[in-house]
Amino acid sequence: MNHFNLNPLVDSEKAQSLAETFGTPIYLYDEARMRSMAEAVLAFPNAYGLTARFAMKSSPNKSILQLFDSLGLHIDASSGHEVKRAIHAGIDPSKISLSAQEIPEDLEALLDLGIQFNACSLKQLETFGKIKKGGKVGVRFNPGSGSGGNNRTNVGGVSSSFGIWHGLVAEVKALCAKYDLEVVRIHTHIGSGSDPDVWLKVALMNFQLVEQFESVTILNLGGGYKVGRMANEVSTDLQVIGKPVREAFEAFAEKTGRKIHCEIEPGTFLMANAGGLLAEVHDLVNTGEDGYHFIKLNTGMTELLRPSIYGAQHPIDIFNQKTSENSEKGSQDYVVVGHCCESGDILTPAPGDPELLATRSFSDVEIGDLVLIGGTGAYASAMTPKHYNSYPEAAEVLIQSNGEARLIRKRQSLESIWENEV
Ligand SMILES: *Cc1c(COP(=O)(O)O)cnc(C)c1O
Repeated sequence: MNHFNLNPLVDSEKAQSLAETFGTPIYLYDEARMRSMAEAVLAFPNAYGLTARFAMKSSPNKSILQLFDSLGLHIDASSGHEVKRAIHAGIDPSKISLSAQEIPEDLEALLDLGIQFNACSLKQLETFGKIKKGGKVGVRFNPGSGSGGNNRTNVGGVSSSFGIWHGLVAEVKALCAKYDLEVVRIHTHIGSGSDPDVWLKVALMNFQLVEQFESVTILNLGGGYKVGRMANEVSTDLQVIGKPVREAFEAFAEKTGRKIHCEIEPGTFLMANAGGLLAEVHDLVNTGEDGYHFIKLNTGMTELLRPSIYGAQHPIDIFNQKTSENSEKGSQDYVVVGHCCESGDILTPAPGDPELLATRSFSDVEIGDLVLIGGTGAYASAMTPKHYNSYPEAAEVLIQSNGEARLIRKRQSLESIWENEV
């Protein structure tokens, strides 16, 4: 089965009917694609058992959490707030693991609910030790080498603050002795959008850490499985990278007699291509003969920030209506921009360089045409400078496996933007 479906999430007719029912802009999520990716994740090659977690920071809507929960995925939370959000969605706390940059003030209460915790710094380990003397804990290490789509998504290596530096094993052991802690899980996550070969190399380095902690029974390899959103970008085949990983678990068991349980926690892989953003061509302008033709949308960085900060590429389909006389006839190179008064609000930056403009060719574009921006299931709705220019949050719609569209988040009311102002 091919899990990588890069076709537009909806066709012109479906887009029209969704826009009529829910307005634009709206986020669309495709249940069938989410199920297919979950199936691929749950089939990750493993030797002694697998727990697969959904990294909820990528797309935290309650309905999405509930769907993945029903399919047998557990949750990776990145803050105490995410833990509470998952519990509110009905996720059993025992299925939630917390790996956070900022330790929640009420960590003790969350631990008492039964969540699992990975200490991501020496200070976090000490805080845990004070609260849960004699407890079992996970430790997130920075294995000393990272991988990411760019230096903003690379979270391993000397320039990354994530996790405890691998050279500090002695300090970790000293804290464990001081508070009588048992390290049961080694956790690493080296970056998002990793090159599959680099991911694999770093994954295998983790066994050196597992070897240094006798009490470890679980190795969490994090997320970071690259998914191409554009046809020319690579995607990770979990069966391909998982095979040598499984063999490494087996080799480790042979050498040490320890059968280690495997955990993975993808976000992007599960969601990226299961989401689209449906918007409208709001205006067409140009900057003269030596300039550019611009398509302005009624969406932009308020719904999708990745192009502006990473130079990320997303597929853009325009559904032509060909109804009016004043369309720009014929094919034309365009820069596609968002609706904010901010020159960085571009949807077609140069690949990997948000400072530069790139163009894409579209034909017969006219104001009012519907536009589908693909690859927006992960780190889109979840990661926006919402409320810039006071645009309310867009609605979210789940296209169910039976084809029916269900509203899973209402469009935000304008009033709620200022409701906390006093
Ligand atoms: C963000 C994150 C993930 C998911 O990363 P993806 O690139 O979306 O797969 C997994 N684990 C941790 C600790 C994270 O911070």
